Amino acid sequence: MMRQYELVDRVRKYNPQADEDLLNRAYVYAMKAHGAQKRASGDPYFSHPLEVAAILTGLRLDDATIVAAVLHDTIEDTASTREEIDQIFGEEIGRLVDGLTKLKRLDLVSKQAEQAENFRRMLLAVADDIRVLLVKLADRLHNMRTLQYVPPDKRRRIAQETLDIYAPLAGRMGMQAMRDELENLSFRTLMPEAAAMIDERLDVLRRSNGELIKRIEKELSDALSDRGITAEVKGREKTPYSIWRKMERKSIGFEQLSDIFGFRVMVPTIEDCYRVIGVVHTRWPNVPGRFKDYISTPKQNDYRSIHTTVVGPGSQRVELQVRTREMNEVADNGIAAHALYKDGHTVDTERLSSESRAYLWLRRTIDALNQGDTPEDFLEHTKLELFHDQVFCFSPKGRLIALPRGATPIDFAYAVHTDVGNHAVGARINGHIAPLLSELQNGDEVQIVTAEGQTPPPAWESLVVTGKARAAIRRATRDAVREQYSGLGRQIVTRAFERSGKTYSDDRLKAALPRLARQSVEDVLAAVGRGEMYSGDVVKAVYPDIALDRPAARSTKSAKTKKAANGATPAAASVESATGIPIRGLRGDLPVSFAPNGGAVPGDRIVGILTPGEGVVIYPIQSPALTQFDDQPERWLDVRWDVESASGSLFPVRLLVSVLNEPGALGNVATVIGETGANIDSVDIAKHSDDVRDLMLDIEVHDLKHLNALIAQLKAQTVVSRVERVNG
Ligand code: MN
Repeated sequence: MMRQYELVDRVRKYNPQADEDLLNRAYVYAMKAHGAQKRASGDPYFSHPLEVAAILTGLRLDDATIVAAVLHDTIEDTASTREEIDQIFGEEIGRLVDGLTKLKRLDLVSKQAEQAENFRRMLLAVADDIRVLLVKLADRLHNMRTLQYVPPDKRRRIAQETLDIYAPLAGRMGMQAMRDELENLSFRTLMPEAAAMIDERLDVLRRSNGELIKRIEKELSDALSDRGITAEVKGREKTPYSIWRKMERKSIGFEQLSDIFGFRVMVPTIEDCYRVIGVVHTRWPNVPGRFKDYISTPKQNDYRSIHTTVVGPGSQRVELQVRTREMNEVADNGIAAHALYKDGHTVDTERLSSESRAYLWLRRTIDALNQGDTPEDFLEHTKLELFHDQVFCFSPKGRLIALPRGATPIDFAYAVHTDVGNHAVGARINGHIAPLLSELQNGDEVQIVTAEGQTPPPAWESLVVTGKARAAIRRATRDAVREQYSGLGRQIVTRAFERSGKTYSDDRLKAALPRLARQSVEDVLAAVGRGEMYSGDVVKAVYPDIALDRPAARSTKSAKTKKAANGATPAAASVESATGIPIRGLRGDLPVSFAPNGGAVPGDRIVGILTPGEGVVIYPIQSPALTQFDDQPERWLDVRWDVESASGSLFPVRLLVSVLNEPGALGNVATVIGETGANIDSVDIAKHSDDVRDLMLDIEVHDLKHLNALIAQLKAQTVVSRVERVNG
């Protein structure tokens, strides 16, 4: 186990101004806190946080990160508290350890593959300080390195999770070295045979190519030093996991892989990089299409390097990556490289304050989206960006639920289950009672309080942010409307039975359902309430022998079958209701009325809207008021004018007429209207401008033809500048 002074020495090596006292206190505190706890390997538990800290010293991270690593399991696994850590180590470190504790809770949640993406985002969202993620990745890396002590089942689960969540996360943070190691450790655990096969093949290849690689390495080094370039040339090979991936992806055998070996050339300056390329390309022919300059155009994760492939010694294809040492550091360690104390320079505490430089770098890579060179890159970064818009919450049982930012406990409830949402009456957030409309925060544990018989208030629809909640609330509202219809239907049917000297009962109606071709009593009642079914037919179905008085006003001459807008109802006869409204397509006992404010006139295309309490209200199809019923198709009825019975009647319509502000203009308009045989009900005059007055005219016409003729006449007047029909 690492000694106290060893840890301090490691940090001091790259950061001479490290706070030794702080590091020592953390060492002693964590050692005492973990006490006699043991790891699966039998080692003292405390060895684990120390190793995690050691991994991070390799990335040359700041004191706070190293201390947070040493303390990372204390709150969750020992008697320590956040308050205590704040007190002893300060708020900054307290916050980091707290973030790690939150992430540790994630480990308790089952992580199915479909949740993997959520988890990656969750990690990013919860860890608002990038250093929390760095410790978390180091924590996972150490756990993966010591995985052999864990039982086989658990081992596989952890390896799969590492492959699904942590390795891609490291990649996304540009930490290629971390990613490679996590992937290869997972690969060996999950597919030991495949890993062994690739190891064996690599061994054989290394033996047969070893000489060649050395030769190329030497030739390259010599050629460069001849030109006075100080370069470090290193042979490199693909990792077993990336070889496996490529074999899988391209369905090819090991022998067909051409790019297992390559070379990396590291030089002091950018200028040197281009000089290296000059030397290489003069000496060996390059393979067309393989030259890529990521120095002048970096990848958006800040990867910079020049790639080329040449036909080298022995006609061997040789892949080269040329970069500076600094670029190499970034390629290996990504985000962590930016958090370093570069070149062992003095500590810049500003740099790693809450808005750390690393975090700014992350932001910048996101901003650089449009420079993406592949759609995958673009997607990756879009996803990264997404975490700003999401919150991640838990159910009391540990289920993770991702919601858009701004989501409320109502959204959460519907995400858990529609029934939970429909019956929600209250919420507890992190154990405290909270309003259903509070905004949820990352990591909140949300418990929904439900009550039977509760239905969601329609107003919720505009307060929730998820589509699922909105649709469910709408559906529940619709069901409530349906209940209103069946209530209305029950009243109508009960009265119809009474008129026939009978008593209505649900049981009798149930027996008659086949005759009405309906599934349930509710269906029948709602149909009557909606006006799709005539209450007399219900009586007749229950008592087939009964003689019914058809309502006298019921017209039989134009009986036709017609389909209602909801498509389900056949057989609707024409109605001349007691009020004499000439509308066809209705059947039943509902009152009919026209929408106020310039209703419909014969000839207009019309629809009927079922309106509880009012019956059927007729609107012209162009009426803007109809939009409020767009999402309630069950209320729409297909209706037509009964032109014959309409003849001779007058129908109200509203016109907006703009006239010049001249003496006699109003009289002129009134005369035209009178001459065409229309009535003026009322006139409202408003000043439009100094020269123009707006007349709002409520008039009565026979039909659309009449109205159109009137409008044409009005437009022909020199004092009239505009005529418009107004629909409320
Ligand atoms: Mn740990």
